[in-house]
Amino acid sequence: MSSVEPVKDTTRSVAEHRGDFPILARPMNDRPLAFLDSAASAQKPECVIEAEARCYREYYANIHRGVYQLSQRSTDAYERARGKVAELLNAPDAREVVFVRGTTEAINLVAWSFVRPRLGPGDEILITGMEHHSNIVPWQLVCEETGAKLVVSPVTDDGEVDLEDFRARLGPRTKFASVVHVSNALGTINPVAEMVAAAQAADVPTLVDGAQAVPHGGADVQAIGCDFYCFSGHKLYGPSGIGALWGRYELLRHMRPYQGGGEMIRYVTFEKSAFAAPPQRFEAGTPNIAGAIGLGVAVDYVRAIGLERIGAHEGELLEYATARLREIDGLRIIGNAREKAGVISFVLDGVHPHDIGTILDQEGVAIRAGHHCAQPVMDRFGVPATVRASFGLYNTREDVDALVNALYRVKEFFG
Ligand code: PLP
Repeated sequence: MSSVEPVKDTTRSVAEHRGDFPILARPMNDRPLAFLDSAASAQKPECVIEAEARCYREYYANIHRGVYQLSQRSTDAYERARGKVAELLNAPDAREVVFVRGTTEAINLVAWSFVRPRLGPGDEILITGMEHHSNIVPWQLVCEETGAKLVVSPVTDDGEVDLEDFRARLGPRTKFASVVHVSNALGTINPVAEMVAAAQAADVPTLVDGAQAVPHGGADVQAIGCDFYCFSGHKLYGPSGIGALWGRYELLRHMRPYQGGGEMIRYVTFEKSAFAAPPQRFEAGTPNIAGAIGLGVAVDYVRAIGLERIGAHEGELLEYATARLREIDGLRIIGNAREKAGVISFVLDGVHPHDIGTILDQEGVAIRAGHHCAQPVMDRFGVPATVRASFGLYNTREDVDALVNALYRVKEFFG
């Protein structure tokens, strides 16, 4: 598939696109909003909001089965969005893109449709010690059903994967490896192409969780070489409730459906049903039509700015924030990997992260405080929770300054 780059918008710096996000113009406690929680969910630009609204206003109808014009327009727009996602990921074929609710559903789909039938007692699934719960719990569920075992390659003190350890855990019983591309709790960018190559050398199929990687700098599934890749639309400035699973067609073609219902069949009788080819086989029921269309527009939007430029901008903010946070006495950054994306987790001596979050909110600074759905990472570093600031394309050094100033207020408050 030839990749069609949208027209590049390089007349504005990355952060000058802040004005595209209406919510960021709304003050918080009479202050400008410093929104530093994009790793949880990113804000939406006007073009995405408008695309969803226009779908409902102008051409909404159920897709794939209508013979009337509205349904054909909706179907075309939905399928165009699939093509855009395929281009975003450099997928060889748009039929390899399955629309799902998000990363969580994508991993569950692969766990039940691809991995579950291949597992028996004593088999192993390999993950890393920095996975989000959505790349742990689905594997625990299939392990419980089959007697298979979840094997974890631990995280180093700096918050990195130990490649040698990872390689060594790929044994004759390993049936699947599922690894995160960028850690949401530590910011670590993993060497996923090397990890996938190691798995392939051991004949082990792989999934890469790209929830935090796609928004940060993009992902190329052919360069990574994995068998499955997934991400969530809402972290890529798109709507919530929509995301994508990419899988090699040869694998998808032989997989059983994840759910049964309308839209995913070739025919149904009471005796038996025959299933549609992928991707429809995995999209039972009426999908999030306007959400997929909105995601397509979000993909156009980030590609026009340039995902590499966005990654570089967030990287620059990360460097600035790291230096400024290190000036604060008693503050400890959790996760000091050599390669990091725009996520910075930290703890402050003697103050619970939730108290920090509450005071920061009063100062107009929105951060996340908690375990970030990565409790094993918190256990690894011996903390119950962290404060996490994460950057999006709209963030500026002023947002980082607002965070640092508010942290000094926290320190004053707690003496
Ligand atoms: N994986 C990672 C690394 C994440 O950061 C997240 C969400 O924070 C998920 C998976 C789950 O994504 P979703 O809740 O959109 O399904």
